[in-house]
Amino acid sequence: MPVSNKRFITAALPYANGPLHFGHLAGVYIPADIYYRHSRLNGFESLYVCGSDEHGVAITLSAEKHSKSFQEWVDQWFVEHQRLFKSYDIQFDAFGRTTSKIHEKNAQDFFKKIHDNGFLKEKSETQAYCKNDKMFLPDRYLTGTCGRCGYAEARGDECPNCGAWLQFEEIKNPKCAKCGKSEIEPRQVSQWYFDLPKLAPQIRKWLESQKDWKENVRNYALSLLESSPERAITRNVKWGIDLPAPWTDPDKKIYVWFEAPVGYLSNLQEYFEKSAHPEGWKDFWNAETPMIHFIGKDNIIFHTIIWPSMLLAAGQRLPTNVPANMFVQLMKKQFSKSAGWYVDAEYALNTFGVDRMRYYLTTLIPESQDTNFDWMVFREKVNAELVNKIANLFNRVGTQVLKHYGGRIEPSLFASHMPELKSWHERVVSHLEKFEINLALTAIVELTEEANKFLDESKPWNLVKESKEKALEPFARATGYMFSIASLLQPFVPTFAARVLSNFSIPLEDKDLLSHLYRQGGAKWLQGQGLQIKSDANFVIMRLEQAPIDEEIKKLGALKA
Ligand SMILES: [Zn+2]
Ligand SMILES: [Zn+2]
Repeated sequence: MPVSNKRFITAALPYANGPLHFGHLAGVYIPADIYYRHSRLNGFESLYVCGSDEHGVAITLSAEKHSKSFQEWVDQWFVEHQRLFKSYDIQFDAFGRTTSKIHEKNAQDFFKKIHDNGFLKEKSETQAYCKNDKMFLPDRYLTGTCGRCGYAEARGDECPNCGAWLQFEEIKNPKCAKCGKSEIEPRQVSQWYFDLPKLAPQIRKWLESQKDWKENVRNYALSLLESSPERAITRNVKWGIDLPAPWTDPDKKIYVWFEAPVGYLSNLQEYFEKSAHPEGWKDFWNAETPMIHFIGKDNIIFHTIIWPSMLLAAGQRLPTNVPANMFVQLMKKQFSKSAGWYVDAEYALNTFGVDRMRYYLTTLIPESQDTNFDWMVFREKVNAELVNKIANLFNRVGTQVLKHYGGRIEPSLFASHMPELKSWHERVVSHLEKFEINLALTAIVELTEEANKFLDESKPWNLVKESKEKALEPFARATGYMFSIASLLQPFVPTFAARVLSNFSIPLEDKDLLSHLYRQGGAKWLQGQGLQIKSDANFVIMRLEQAPIDEEIKKLGALKA
């Protein structure tokens, strides 16, 4: 069991081949970011590491289609993805890329180590060869009809319709995706294979002992393990990482799926290489430090079976938890850019703002089943919770405290009834520690309901007309609630939480203080310092009107459905 006070948190490496959508954000990057911010605020020395996955034939095909070099193509997405993450307040410590030097060396070291430990073997197999392009046709370079279900647009490696992994012989009417011709012949070629079956008994034992994991993830992983054959880890392609000496072959590269997860280690090392402590990565890469991989369900096989098998075969530490999420749909259908069923995530952010987007996407995190992005629900949810229950509460109380008391509440007024705030924090944290991020946010909404109920019952705005003195205590208590809620909202809607806390004259650059506020639910600060609201404080979040929502729905052409 890990005992370290450190946490190594990763999010799936985005594939440098196209834009990311809400499903990626709500399924992987936002939950990982919330967990990371929570971990740091709660006193864990945490690193949030990600980066681009930049090899593979999907990339080379797209680059060719857009008449760009492979490098230009991945450079573009490396920049665009980071810009999107930044705009959504997704705050990585390290964001590397699998085309880096350090990663090349690491991927080759894994190959070597796993080879030397007896888990690689060379096998001859039949692959499609285009006589026109004079090249082998790996994966998507081959198209044709699925021999199992008859789907006309199957790919060389799998059928998107029936999901089967396909061999060349199972593709009818094969065509080359590069030149469009059918001048294809089967040719024998030898590849390196990773002996997953040999590792399966150990992986099974390891999976079965992960009692803290989400049950659906563990069960799914165990079912996938039933059929985990040897897998080729090399390919005849031009874009990728060379095999290490003495196995180097000018025609072959390491298959992308085998090197991509090594990127977590590479990007961690690169982060420390640039720092004053180049060896510091070792403090995060050991059996005592939890390594937590946030991914979507399509990645479960890689992170619960293949990557752990690689780590085991190379004699390295294993993942601690893989809190995989399911998928997010858009208005009950799959996101599809080509079919126009799509929302540009950056455009949405510029239109509706980071607080509203992050709030709604957090409620959509598909923790145990698929969820659905719905523009109408977006408006309802944001208006009912973030605007009415949270921001309006803050605004109602803040305005009155400024008006009647110059924004100042002395610590003595918080002395008697604020210890309960510490238990608010515990309630939120207990959910986050179990990766129940939806429930953690729900708990905060319930706290705002308690605060609103207290105000409705104590009616300090009526009381203040009789006597400022009498109204002071309920106002103080309500302000304490508001301060505590803002402290707890930090991981979820960091921009809004920072605005509220700075309105309370909290210096945002003081990270230790922010962490202290979070861990205490603000209670100790209130009792020690009291509160001073700035005279120009603004707690408002504007309601969402129907018109811009209708615009978005119209764009999707969804009203008919
Ligand atoms: Zn099929
Ligand atoms: Zn061809």
